[in-house]
Amino acid sequence: MNETFISEENGYYGEFGGAYIPEMLRQNVESLRSVYHQIIESDEFRTEFKRLLSDYAGRPSPLFLAARLSNKYGAKIYLKREDLNHTGSHKINNTIGQILLAKKMGKTRIIAETGAGQHGVATATVCALMGLECVVYMGETDMLRQEPNVKRMEMLGATVIPATCGNKTLKDATNEALRDWICNPENTFYIIGSVVGPHPYPDIVAKFQSVISEELLVQLKSKEGTEDPDIIIACVGGGSNAAGIFYHYINRKKVRLIGVEAAGDGVDTNRTAATICVGDTGIIHGSKTMLLQSDDGQITEPYSISAGLDYPGVGPIHAWLAKTGRAEYMNATDTEALKAAYELTRLEGIIPALESAHALAVLGKLQLKSNDIVVVNISGRGDKDMQAYTEALKMFTGETV
Ligand SMILES: *Cc1c(COP(=O)(O)O)cnc(C)c1O
Repeated sequence: MNETFISEENGYYGEFGGAYIPEMLRQNVESLRSVYHQIIESDEFRTEFKRLLSDYAGRPSPLFLAARLSNKYGAKIYLKREDLNHTGSHKINNTIGQILLAKKMGKTRIIAETGAGQHGVATATVCALMGLECVVYMGETDMLRQEPNVKRMEMLGATVIPATCGNKTLKDATNEALRDWICNPENTFYIIGSVVGPHPYPDIVAKFQSVISEELLVQLKSKEGTEDPDIIIACVGGGSNAAGIFYHYINRKKVRLIGVEAAGDGVDTNRTAATICVGDTGIIHGSKTMLLQSDDGQITEPYSISAGLDYPGVGPIHAWLAKTGRAEYMNATDTEALKAAYELTRLEGIIPALESAHALAVLGKLQLKSNDIVVVNISGRGDKDMQAYTEALKMFTGETV
């Protein structure tokens, strides 16, 4: 990890970020804010974080030159293989960091919210590792849709509590988790899964995920003789895998940074999750950022085939990178992502997560040059998405898997 955090002291990235929270949460958030720098930057913490990232999660994740994909798009395309991490995505980087932070703060009970269940599984995993009590809030609708992940969390020893209000999805699970945290401020640590929520969470999560670009600098130097690719591409739900792979490149202005949002059925339909593309500024989950809202300021339901990208807000760091023009934000529809997933699978023998497939889906929309070096972050593996992939194959070719 480098020494600097990106946001300024109160958690603002330009006009975005901050901590817009009810008075009842102020003390919980403040007790975290007042200690996190010191803990995360201590030698003891860094040593233990590094050890678990390597020996438990399997880092560094490989940087793979995808030869056949490169040939197809006429550029040199590398894949950053976060799909090879323990539990199958980049999420474990963050949960390892936050569980260590919780332990250093003397907390004995962990809570989390989860949508698709990926963050819930990563949290339940590190709680088992550390022997801490784990409670995961999950919308009742999501529990039915993502049953294998519910079973995984339970096998890992977590208690999964259904959120039964509203649409019974992620937003409702988040409200339940916040309520729990307010009632249990002494012993409970709330592990948030992306670069969202009130300051200091976006700052903390970006920092833990920055290991991705820290490794990329070294790996690219050894393979290409330069630390800097021409283009970095990552999908954006809340934005943590993108923040992680952008992190050390934000001040290297020659490197083009591209975030890819989920367009769902299309950005001109109301079934989309492309927050930066079609949203406006507002406040969601304690942070000032871009979000999907109706004309009267109600948060609207996002839609994407990919559960991990189906979030109505986006981390404030991305709202800022978009506003300042430092990063570009594109989008890919469900169908484009499904096609890109099949393409990677058939060309390279790698089944990506549906989320990651959105990043791959913009390769054909860029005017790449033959000497361009492009890095695509493969945020996770596709095992969890086999049902969607199987249905898609019928749609494309009539074939069945
Ligand atoms: C959760 C998830 C995402 C989306 O989250 P970000 O915070 O935007 O990274 C992307 N890919 C995978 C594989 C995920 O599990």
